[in-house]
Amino acid sequence: MIPPTLTSPNKLTVPKEETYFTFAVIVSVIAWAALAITIVGLFYALLIAFFIWMGNGLLAAHLRSEAVQVNEQQLPRLYAAYREVCAKFNLDEPPDLYVVQAGGALNAFAARHAGRSFVVVFSDFVDALGTDSAEMKFILGHEIGHLRSRHILKQILLAPGLITPLLGPAYRRSWETSCDRYGAFAAQDINASTRAMMVLSGGKDHAKELQAGPFADQHYHERGFFVSLHELSSTYPTLSKRVTDLLALETGIPAERPPRNPFAYLFASFVPGGNTGAPANALIFVVIIGLLAAMAIPAFQKVREASQLKVCLNNERMLSAAFDQAVLENGKPPTSVAELVGPGKYIKQMPVCLNGGTYVIPRGATSGEEIFCTVHGTMENIQRKFNPTAVRH
Ligand SMILES: [Zn+2]
Ligand SMILES: [Zn+2]
Repeated sequence: MIPPTLTSPNKLTVPKEETYFTFAVIVSVIAWAALAITIVGLFYALLIAFFIWMGNGLLAAHLRSEAVQVNEQQLPRLYAAYREVCAKFNLDEPPDLYVVQAGGALNAFAARHAGRSFVVVFSDFVDALGTDSAEMKFILGHEIGHLRSRHILKQILLAPGLITPLLGPAYRRSWETSCDRYGAFAAQDINASTRAMMVLSGGKDHAKELQAGPFADQHYHERGFFVSLHELSSTYPTLSKRVTDLLALETGIPAERPPRNPFAYLFASFVPGGNTGAPANALIFVVIIGLLAAMAIPAFQKVREASQLKVCLNNERMLSAAFDQAVLENGKPPTSVAELVGPGKYIKQMPVCLNGGTYVIPRGATSGEEIFCTVHGTMENIQRKFNPTAVRH
């Protein structure tokens, strides 16, 4: 019997994926806007885009030349199963499918380059699941789900949201949960879908003896701090949780959510998302550092500039007071700073402007307020820099 949740290809995305999508868009729009207005950020963004594009191009080239493209001649049974899955999702033009030997790894992925999508299945995974089994259709459907949901494009456009702690991993996990539903829809067989999971978890030779039910129970029994932290920082739901969700499809009622250790949220909020080891993530990290530096350096310079101005202002105040003192004592205004500064005079040592300015009494000055720094100007000039909107006199 086909469970009610698996009757339409249009209701497979889980609602929380859409919720996380909204948050990821908000974070990403802010981050991209911040990048765009700082020249350094823009430079890094373009550099990263270039590296991602290059890496992606090389991956596509590697597959097109080293991996075997599956078609009517090459692995025709796998190709027929693949066409069948694509037809279930109303895809007239199926993306290219490749099988590649990957040193025994059991995996599959979807990718896109230069406007062409493709699905890649590791050869040992084909050996383990069979070329046209319902298990294989589950895997193919899962990858088609990624393409149909435009996850590859979102991975780039929403990159800032995806590396945000807690949000990014949660959003990525919801992708996998949705895509597992695509897979189950493609297979139209929950048991086969969980068997494919058991192969991922227990390996190809023993999976037949493994049972999905007890494995799903592990998700309910292992609820400690470290398991919670692992779940929160991981971009994939744990395999036991994925099995739990697949089994829940049978009834159409979402699986019960066991609680996580609350301290794990605290720790996970410091773990950036996207810990998949992809070089793109490291590069995005570089962008963030560059962005922070671009924002921090001007702020730091502003603070330093303000303190330099303050020193100069205090110097001028001191000289101005000495000027007024000299007027009182001599009955006429001094004509040079040298009259005010020196041993036995009003100020013992020449005050130093941190920006190398020297202090000058203009010709015919009658007030200490007219003393100016050759770099910063008069006291009034400096005060106006601190408070540009204030109107004086
Ligand atoms: Zn996936
Ligand atoms: Zn100065």
